[in-house]
Amino acid sequence: MKSSQSLFAALLLSFAPALAQPNSAQLPTASQVTVIHAGILIDPRADLPKQNQVIVIRGDKVESVGDAASTQVPEGAKIIDLSNATVLPGLIESHTHIFLQGEDPALGGYDIQLLKFPLAYRAARATVSARRALEQGFTTIRDMETEGAGYGDVGIKMAVNEGRIPGPRIFTTTRAISTTGGYPLEDYAPEVQVPKGVQIIDGPVEARKAAREQMDHGADWIKVYMTHRSWSDKNGKLVSQPPLTLQEIKAIADDTHNWGRKVACHAYNGEGLHRALDGGCDSIEHGLGLDDAAVAQMKRQATWYCPTISIYYKEWAPENTPAGRRDRARAAEHEQSFKKALQAGVKIVFGTDVGGFSWEEPIAQEFSYMVKFGMSPIDAVRSATLAPAAMLDMSGQLGVIAPGAYADVIAVPGDPLKDIMELGRVKFVMHNGQVFKSE
Ligand SMILES: [Zn+2]
Repeated sequence: MKSSQSLFAALLLSFAPALAQPNSAQLPTASQVTVIHAGILIDPRADLPKQNQVIVIRGDKVESVGDAASTQVPEGAKIIDLSNATVLPGLIESHTHIFLQGEDPALGGYDIQLLKFPLAYRAARATVSARRALEQGFTTIRDMETEGAGYGDVGIKMAVNEGRIPGPRIFTTTRAISTTGGYPLEDYAPEVQVPKGVQIIDGPVEARKAAREQMDHGADWIKVYMTHRSWSDKNGKLVSQPPLTLQEIKAIADDTHNWGRKVACHAYNGEGLHRALDGGCDSIEHGLGLDDAAVAQMKRQATWYCPTISIYYKEWAPENTPAGRRDRARAAEHEQSFKKALQAGVKIVFGTDVGGFSWEEPIAQEFSYMVKFGMSPIDAVRSATLAPAAMLDMSGQLGVIAPGAYADVIAVPGDPLKDIMELGRVKFVMHNGQVFKSE
């Protein structure tokens, strides 16, 4: 990744003069006051929505929220009328890949991005992905690794934060970590050197070094692949290979926690999942086959669960092929896992793995699976607001519309507590006090 990384840095530098003047229109001034009149306001801290609320926003923060009848509108405030809409806090997507575009296998699939696409092309498309998240009301994302694009997510985050491109608040993981044989690109002749979609480590010393390097270069979280290959055995049971040893994941978690940051573990089931939990992972990604012991341990250790259900319902291989059997076994186990975790009260966050599928598809489709599998609509809203805000150590600042919180506000025409797919019809998006979309 070294050479492509420096190329990316060089590209950013070469573009810098053209962008020397940030678009100041996108950066709210501290004194700017905006007032939103919300017909219905869903406060995820309460079970029932409130009617006729007024939200006063100063600069990029919420100043006050109150009944329309009793709230004084500050003089000179810009008024936004959402009296016919349902207003909610900006949503949080806890598992995205802005550097993936759901590549069609017929067009070269995953591999072609690393083998043929210049990094600048991938970065250009990542800016569009970031914009897509914001358009759909996701004002914060936790991006779960760049898949061979080095520290590109740190660059995109920088551009968003400076107001140069529209996009959500980004929590980065940069390169992610696995072991030799534990990640694509794979199946090339051994004589050919191919790039890898992650940073490869072998042994606790290299593991620790990779985590330190990534955090040094801007990783907010460290992402680790605790399972990789998976297949279904003779009895149709899902089996997953664990790439890292317990010593390796412990070394990573120890160092990451020393930096005050957190570890996200891609883990399907079995040995790799248990090593992730024994090793001190903060969030389990996918968790297709959570057994009772894993659920109990997640509850005990307050581990977050980001199930990413919908992606496992896409593009199943034909029935009665090994891949087809695996795809069906995965989805069946996943549903049971989710239900078990939900019943046990494991902390669940909304995430889709978008990028693994096209950014043109609606992110909100995940909500319908969560509700179909037993989550109440208000808890589904919480999984994309309050819960991830806590996971990201941003309680009170994200996922709520309350004094002191960032002014991330969205609106939908109908009632998402009656039809959760209403969250796929976001018509208004404010991010950091600036209106990004208003239809
Ligand atoms: Zn992912």
